Amino acid sequence: MRDAEFFRRWLEAATAAVEREADRLTELDSPIGDADHGNNLLRGFLAVRAALDAADAPTPPGGLLQLAGRTLISTVGGASGPLYGTLLRRTGKELGDAAEVSDEALREALDAGVGAVARLGGAAPGDKTMLDALVPGVAALGTSYAAAGDAAENGARATTPMLARKGRASYLGERSIGHQDPGATSSALLLRALADTADGGA
Ligand code: ADP
Ligand code: MG
Repeated sequence: MRDAEFFRRWLEAATAAVEREADRLTELDSPIGDADHGNNLLRGFLAVRAALDAADAPTPPGGLLQLAGRTLISTVGGASGPLYGTLLRRTGKELGDAAEVSDEALREALDAGVGAVARLGGAAPGDKTMLDALVPGVAALGTSYAAAGDAAENGARATTPMLARKGRASYLGERSIGHQDPGATSSALLLRALADTADGGA
């Protein structure tokens, strides 16, 4: 079972990964975007860290994810803020107010969260978005957390030859081909952070 401390550690690992990789995410967003993805997520996740620090210690897993999601929505200006905010809010809502959640419940909740992202953005796998990492990553949670991290990283890499059909990169048409999607790359960071947190014990 995974308790609130596990979710705090996951979100902190995600924040640390965004801090480490922010420059690379912004570089990826330069040829097929407006060079702000790393900055957007850094602003958002630093605000998440502050919000979690200020949250009541007994806040349950679902409450922590909803708080993180609300914080991303209110602090990230780009398209990715509402999308990641929706992912975490919806996942948190699915978990309800249970003090501890099973790996199976977390997998189902993340699946619902990814579905909400797809509905909000109107995108599907193959459109060269964060869904190209999130969908295979969450599907591989049925195998293991490490498999989810691997599948998300492979999914992010697989966006390079894709033609973007959603978001800013889609304005480039054929010129979007040959570049890895920044949002798929950051989604892989989030799922790798989850895998590292799960493997680190708890
Ligand atoms: P913006 O495009 O507003 O500058 P960001 O640079 O922070 O926002 O995020 C860009 C990322 O958001 C893209 O790389 C892509 O993965 C993701 N994205 C954009 N539009 C959509 C969408 N409709 N559905 C899913 N993901 C999207
Ligand atoms: Mg951008």
